[in-house]
Amino acid sequence: MSESKERKLIISLRAHTIMLAIVIAATSLIFVFWNQRRSSDYSYMLSGAVNLQYWKESDGRPIILKEGWEFYPNHLLTPAMIWASRDENAKTQYSYYRNVSISTNGWTDLGPKAELYDFGESNTDLGAFGVGTYRIVLQLSPGVDFITLNIPSISQSATIWVNNQEARHFGKIADNKQDYMPAEVCTDIQIEPDESGKIEIVIQCANFSSPHGGIVNSPCLASAATVSIIDYSARMFLTVIAAFLVFFLFGGIYISRTFFDKKKYYFFLLMLLCELLYELFAPSVTLLSGNWNMLIRTSMIILANYWTFLFYSSLYPQGVSKLFDKLKLFDSVLMPLLTALYLVVYWCFPDRLYLNSSIVANAVLLTLTNAYCFFRVFYMLYRHKHGQYLYTGAILLTLIIHISYFIRTQYFIYVTLHSFFLLIWGFAFSFYFVVDYVRTYEKLAYNNKNLENAVEEKTKYIIRVNQDLLKNHEKLLENEEARKKMMSNVSHDLRTPITAIRGYIELMLNAKEPLSHEQEVTYLSNMHTRSVQMEQLISDLVQLTRMESENDTLDIMPVSVKEMVQDLYNLYHAECEGTDKVITFSAPPDDDLMIDGDPKKLLRVFENIIVNAMKYTREDGVINIILHRYEDPAMLGGNAVEVLVKDNGVGIPESEVPYVFDRFYRAENSGINKTGSGLGLSIVKSVMDKHGGKIWAESEEGKGSEFHIVFKASEFNFDEEPEE
Ligand code: ADP
Repeated sequence: MSESKERKLIISLRAHTIMLAIVIAATSLIFVFWNQRRSSDYSYMLSGAVNLQYWKESDGRPIILKEGWEFYPNHLLTPAMIWASRDENAKTQYSYYRNVSISTNGWTDLGPKAELYDFGESNTDLGAFGVGTYRIVLQLSPGVDFITLNIPSISQSATIWVNNQEARHFGKIADNKQDYMPAEVCTDIQIEPDESGKIEIVIQCANFSSPHGGIVNSPCLASAATVSIIDYSARMFLTVIAAFLVFFLFGGIYISRTFFDKKKYYFFLLMLLCELLYELFAPSVTLLSGNWNMLIRTSMIILANYWTFLFYSSLYPQGVSKLFDKLKLFDSVLMPLLTALYLVVYWCFPDRLYLNSSIVANAVLLTLTNAYCFFRVFYMLYRHKHGQYLYTGAILLTLIIHISYFIRTQYFIYVTLHSFFLLIWGFAFSFYFVVDYVRTYEKLAYNNKNLENAVEEKTKYIIRVNQDLLKNHEKLLENEEARKKMMSNVSHDLRTPITAIRGYIELMLNAKEPLSHEQEVTYLSNMHTRSVQMEQLISDLVQLTRMESENDTLDIMPVSVKEMVQDLYNLYHAECEGTDKVITFSAPPDDDLMIDGDPKKLLRVFENIIVNAMKYTREDGVINIILHRYEDPAMLGGNAVEVLVKDNGVGIPESEVPYVFDRFYRAENSGINKTGSGLGLSIVKSVMDKHGGKIWAESEEGKGSEFHIVFKASEFNFDEEPEE
């Protein structure tokens, strides 16, 4: 991909991400506000009871009991004790908070309407409370006679009173930390208003082991059917969330298969799973009492935060960005110090676990670390060469946030809409990153493949060209070598006869006495032989050069091999007459053995071979010339004509047979008295090559030689009458 295209892709991906974030955030905000408005349906009666007279059971609409509560810190009170303390003459009067809002942060968030009624004992320290009592009074219309109160989560043991009757209790309430037994439950309590439609709910609560003690989620009042619908849909929701979590976990693992260093990812995932399992099982398996559970749980969260941090920190190798190089140095000191500080404080002073300031400090640490990791992910997204880690990073961060929702609300029976939309927001982001990552990865993989193919093809082409160049280079060197050799041979072969001729001339010129007639004849005939030899050599050279030049074209026509060789045979047969040499000729009787070729050049081929056979045989030599058709399909396609010239002469040494067709090559046993240039067979070979024919020699030294000359037969059969 070109650089500008890549930049455009990056910009468009970022734009998409920002758009998606804005849309999801806006939708979430609308629902958050809509959800918040629902709690303002309340009005209060003069008695202080929440007025629900206009609510009808048949509406099916649940009422979220966010306001109207009284909270008595540090006291476990029954309804009777509260009434008694309201009597102006009573000895004990209990101080309480009014209209404490119920949120996912429990009672620690007092809200703007919180008031502290001081009845004398005003030494209440909210951060240090270990027990407390909630009270709410509701006024329903008289027609409503049966209703369900749903309290999603009370942390961690409680007794619930309805209209001065004990309705439910769980765990063991005690006003000291040693005797208290924790249990976290959710409750659906069937309640009946009294005749006047009044309901008074009092909840005694102990919450030593949790900073989010007491009622964690807003209770809700509805008909039994509505409560069961809420319950059912909440479970469905929980199932969907769990499915999503599993989907993203496996999605992350699937994507990590394409990563270079899988181990890091799996290790990190394993730690998160341990943390999650601990979070899920710790509340139900409370083996340790008092502060220990809380201490271990908080430590685990702080440690998990540190693991996460280390994981993200490890994604950025040194030298990728100057900014992060500096930050990394800072990280490796600051984060371990901060983590250690938190752990030391909690382990030395476990009471601090329950302070508001500690909860805020934990939240600040977790939020800052997560925000910092998110910042890194986005900052480095397209700068880092192993960008795919960052996608998983984003998914994992989202996962951590999701997991933290589970930690915060272990009982997901009633889920407020805004947390639902926050989850959707997170999922949408995760999903976007997964899809986006897979798409980008596929695109990159596709481009890579194309690039690899192109490079492979080009490499092959370059190798081929290189090989051709090398071959040509070798050929040029060979040719140059051959040229040099030829020059030296030519000059030597020309000089020899000239030197001889000059010798004879000098002999005649410098003779002191007149030469006899015989002497003159001998000298002159020797000079004649030498000059014929020279002429032959020059004519051979001219012919060879012409043959090898590209301009030399063949004058192709149908030739009868039988006729041509027979004429030659007749000539040399006559020459043999009167000597002991025997020459024979055999050919198929009714076959002219037609081929397509240049008659002049073909004549040269046949003559040269026959002359060689005559030349390299003794006085009583036998030469056989045999013509026939060649049926072997391996030879020129099967339809061929062969001229075989056999002799029983001197033969050629086995090691020299392959070279007889080379220029100037003369076998060692060719004899000094046999004149010859060593060019004849190379001319023959080059004529054969031009005709697409084949020639080879077989020989045994001292026994004789065979020369095979094979041509492709003419396609047109002259012997057959054309069909009418
Ligand atoms: P030359 O002019 O020497 O005959 P050629 O090119 O015709 O040159 O032959 C090359 C060499 O091949 C000869 O010098 C000879 O040694 C060997 N040769 C060719 N034909 C025969 C043959 N029929 N018997 C033995 N040797 C042969």
